[in-house]
Amino acid sequence: MMGAGKRHDLLTRAVKTYGKDAQMDMAVEEMAELTKALCKVKRAAPGCETAAAVSNVFEEIADVQIMLDQLRIIFGGSTIDLEDGKLDRLKRRLDRHDGIDYNNEEGWRGSMLRTFLNRPGGERRD
Ligand SMILES: [Mg+2]
Repeated sequence: MMGAGKRHDLLTRAVKTYGKDAQMDMAVEEMAELTKALCKVKRAAPGCETAAAVSNVFEEIADVQIMLDQLRIIFGGSTIDLEDGKLDRLKRRLDRHDGIDYNNEEGWRGSMLRTFLNRPGGERRD
């Protein structure tokens, strides 16, 4: 496995060699390939086809991760703080979710989703 410093140097070299525009286009292309791989894995027949589809998903995740790292280099910043904030919000949502039993009338009646769906002009789901 390549160390973080060498990885960063290599990706910086790629951005300098090919240019920011080309690498942003490549990021979009790789994200589209991952999108396609994810759609395909759900339709794969059990057995060899599924194994190949899952293998392809991993390939595309790696490609996208490499391009995400180059995007951070291009835009000159880290996403660690943003990720931490978003992960904190996700944890709070999951904690709230775990506290609500949707099979329990009390849980559904008191949920924010019900409130949202039943707002004036909203689609009623009762
Ligand atoms: Mg790819």
